[in-house]
Amino acid sequence: MTYDASTRQVRVRAPGKVNLSLAVGALAPDGYHPLATVFQAVSLYEDLTARPSDTFELTVAGPFAEGVPTDETNLALRAARLLAGHVGIEEGVRLHLNKGVPVAGGMAGGSADAAAALLACDALWQTALSREALAELAAQLGSDVPFALLGHTAIGTGRGHLLTPAMTRGEYHWVFALRAKGLATPAVYRTFDRLSGSTAEAEPQADLELMQALRAGDPAALGAVLRNDLEPAAIELAPELTETLAVAHDAGALGAIVSGSGPTVAALARGAKHALVIAAGLTAAGVADEVLCAVGPVAGARVLQTVRLGGDFEPGPLSPVDRA
Ligand code: ATP
Repeated sequence: MTYDASTRQVRVRAPGKVNLSLAVGALAPDGYHPLATVFQAVSLYEDLTARPSDTFELTVAGPFAEGVPTDETNLALRAARLLAGHVGIEEGVRLHLNKGVPVAGGMAGGSADAAAALLACDALWQTALSREALAELAAQLGSDVPFALLGHTAIGTGRGHLLTPAMTRGEYHWVFALRAKGLATPAVYRTFDRLSGSTAEAEPQADLELMQALRAGDPAALGAVLRNDLEPAAIELAPELTETLAVAHDAGALGAIVSGSGPTVAALARGAKHALVIAAGLTAAGVADEVLCAVGPVAGARVLQTVRLGGDFEPGPLSPVDRA
């Protein structure tokens, strides 16, 4: 199938995430861990542009470009190929990624790239897939990819890919303490298996107190119930995280946890000014290689701009979520 190539460029933005709660069940026979997690999309972004091309190509720039594979294993390229195969597109795409989410940091940057590529290629090739169809392709690429499409705050069950949007109020101010040396998610899960032995639940449940705190828009209540079952495993692999967490608590964070599989530490602040105080404390103590402030929840992957032949610039169409 060929497509109307009048669309010359599409620019898409997709967010990173933090897990407010990550309850991990015992390893199931299918090789996956059942999860009950609460994702929140935060304002660290991947910006991806897609242009027509005969081949599938990717270039990467931005603060976290280092360490991102640009070969076939890159999740953005895998997403583009998956969509092309699904709809029968024979051309390729040239992708350029500006990477604003840390690599292997537990913030699902690769998943955001995959979601961005699905949406960008959907717009470039005018495939107009439904939200459900895109989410299905997203789930084939990785457990966190459907959430990067959806954004905001959502409960994830199954492998984290079965999503229910959560009702939340207010804006939450986060400080992220980054480590240059990432943690490989499979290694963290293997360590979790060893540490949890037979104590991991078969069917983990979402935390009702946490959902109540989000509904009330109460950051202090949220901070008190942040939970990550992978934290002990991440700390075993990167013991320096104990000190990072302690410094965040000492700086008055409402709560501090390892984000996802780590090693990023996420500290919840009372507001924007307090976030700067915590960031300064973490920086001064030398317990992070870089410190970033962000807010959540924010929207999922969305088209920012579509450029058509003749140089017409159009505001981007609504994301599939807003379209629904
Ligand atoms: P998660 O929180 O979903 O476990 P993460 O944030 O810890 O993920 P990512 O940055 O998403 O980790 O990616 C982890 C690994 O995946 C990288 O070390 C890299 O080898 C590979 N990878 C493939 N595609 C990408 C991509 N587009 N961006 C970053 N890493 C990618």
